[in-house]
Amino acid sequence: MQDPKRPGPEDREGRQPERLTWQVATVESITVETYRVKTFRLRLPSWKTFRSGMHYDVRLTAPDGYQAQRSYSIATSPETRDLIDLTVEKIEDGEVSPYFHDELIVDDRIELRGPIGGAFTWTASMGGPLLLIAGGSGIVPLMSMLRHRESAARHVQTMLLYSSRSPDDVIYSGELDALAEAGNGLQVAHTFTRTAPERWDGFARRVDARMISDVFDRLGAVGRAYVCGPGGFVETVASALVDAGITPERIHTERFGPADR
Ligand SMILES: Cc1cc2nc3c(=O)[nH]c(=O)nc-3n(C[C@H](O)[C@H](O)[C@H](O)COP(=O)(O)OP(=O)(O)OC[C@H]3O[C@@H](n4cnc5c(N)ncnc54)[C@H](O)[C@@H]3O)c2cc1C
Repeated sequence: MQDPKRPGPEDREGRQPERLTWQVATVESITVETYRVKTFRLRLPSWKTFRSGMHYDVRLTAPDGYQAQRSYSIATSPETRDLIDLTVEKIEDGEVSPYFHDELIVDDRIELRGPIGGAFTWTASMGGPLLLIAGGSGIVPLMSMLRHRESAARHVQTMLLYSSRSPDDVIYSGELDALAEAGNGLQVAHTFTRTAPERWDGFARRVDARMISDVFDRLGAVGRAYVCGPGGFVETVASALVDAGITPERIHTERFGPADR
């Protein structure tokens, strides 16, 4: 759970420009992405400019006053005004994500504050080439970057390496296929850790150093790398990137879940 006393968003220099206040957003639509992931489109009374990679904190309050707070990355690009999408994976024994999936309906209201984040952000002016590496729902902030790249028509060479358990677990599958097929410098490589499609000739294992070296070769050069997913996934990938010669200041990481996953 996040620290409720944590201050507001940091800018790129790490300053805290303002203290964020909680606001009440309205659920405008709910989209089923996979059998355990849904996207919640929220209309914000006070939408603020943000950078792709940032997140919002969501706060639930029970009738007895008990509160639970979690962070969710913004899936939309900064060009989408007044609304944000949060894409939430249901953790079966979780406190907050099952509430999103099983309780929240259109027109419900939910308390949140943001945008929050500093180092794990990309804007089109930062350029590329970009190496994006996602594990599971770690795709969410990277999708915001890809949508921003598209909206800003800043088609820097980009490689997305996306690790999922099976094809049924791939979030934003149709949109990713369409972006990759548009032929404007985005390559998408999937790896499946549990079940691969029949006659699949792509990756079918956890991300490892050999896989990283392979996608490196396909991208040619790496300006910045962004890695997001469960803690253990991020650790493994970040050290493989360092071993592959990317200097740590060009590696941006965001951890979603516990370290051992
Ligand atoms: C900056 C940031 C951005 C995030 N963005 C997203 C996002 O865009 N989409 C999203 O779905 N989640 C995101 N998360 C994770 C999210 O904040 C919650 O941790 C997650 O939804 C689980 O909360 P919960 O209350 O349902 O489970 P909890 O009650 O916190 O946990 C229940 C059990 O599940 C385990 N667990 C917790 N989180 C995970 C996980 N991610 N994977 C597997 N097991 C877990 C816990 O160790 C515990 O055993 C983000 C986290 C951070 C820090």
